[in-house]
Amino acid sequence: MTPRYPLEGVISWNMNTTCNYRCTYCTQRFVDDRKQSARDLPAFVAAFAGLPGDWEIKLSGGEPFRHPDFLAGVQGLVDGGLRVSVVTNLSSKRETLAAYVDATAPKPGVLSASLHLEYADPDAFLDTLCWLAERHAGPVVATCVATRETLPRLKDLQARFASRGQRLLAQPEKQDRDVIAYTPAEREALLALGGHNGLGRIDPDLSGRPCWAGARYFIVDHRGEAYRCYPARRYRQERLGNVLDGSLRLALDAEPCRYRYCNCTVPQGRGMVDLRDAPAASA
Ligand code: SF4
Ligand code: SF4
Repeated sequence: MTPRYPLEGVISWNMNTTCNYRCTYCTQRFVDDRKQSARDLPAFVAAFAGLPGDWEIKLSGGEPFRHPDFLAGVQGLVDGGLRVSVVTNLSSKRETLAAYVDATAPKPGVLSASLHLEYADPDAFLDTLCWLAERHAGPVVATCVATRETLPRLKDLQARFASRGQRLLAQPEKQDRDVIAYTPAEREALLALGGHNGLGRIDPDLSGRPCWAGARYFIVDHRGEAYRCYPARRYRQERLGNVLDGSLRLALDAEPCRYRYCNCTVPQGRGMVDLRDAPAASA
């Protein structure tokens, strides 16, 4: 069944590749050029603000707060009428985080904080998360990648976060852009933690199901290259053009999914694809 037309579309923008961490599981770590030029920022903002209809933009990287003009970019997007969400490692100073919260207050999106146990102390991270949750008008959530080493710690960590009113969601580890070969017991543990981002699944096969990705959801990289969704970019299929050169073309309707597994939280979590009877994992 085709899900209802999503009134608010969503863009996932990997706005930079720069980061102050070097996590072993980072999917960006093979990118040579981790420097970021602010040169194209006004063109990006104008292109996103010019999209017809209502849109939320999810900023990620790299670490988006490391973009040299991050807060100016956020303000430009807010002024352009977009709802702004962010995925951050939460390592920025509180005054910078507060400036972000203030800028997005008119139309707050989701603040998703990634706990990277190779770098961050969980207690300090949780303190900052609680401090933010009191100030941010939109949802605040934490995530943590379930590596083989961290997976056994996540149940306790989830309880610690819950005791302070915060959610900690697990994310499957990917290497070479595929979910790693978890054992059946590890998969069970991951599902008991809520699956990928609390969606109850790890890497479901949704192929053939109508999905609004490509029309009301798309992803953009730091060079402006746009694809239907993350699996589309992985396979270099369903390229939608480039945001910066004016060649972006979105589909008008939901179209069948072509991919063996879906790791896109937004279409799954926002009802853009019908998940009824979907398997917890791809075969
Ligand atoms: S914080 Fe995120 S972007 Fe930075 S190295 Fe870790 S996984 Fe990569
Ligand atoms: S992989 Fe996921 S987001 Fe992409 S088309 Fe399929 S269901 Fe939609």
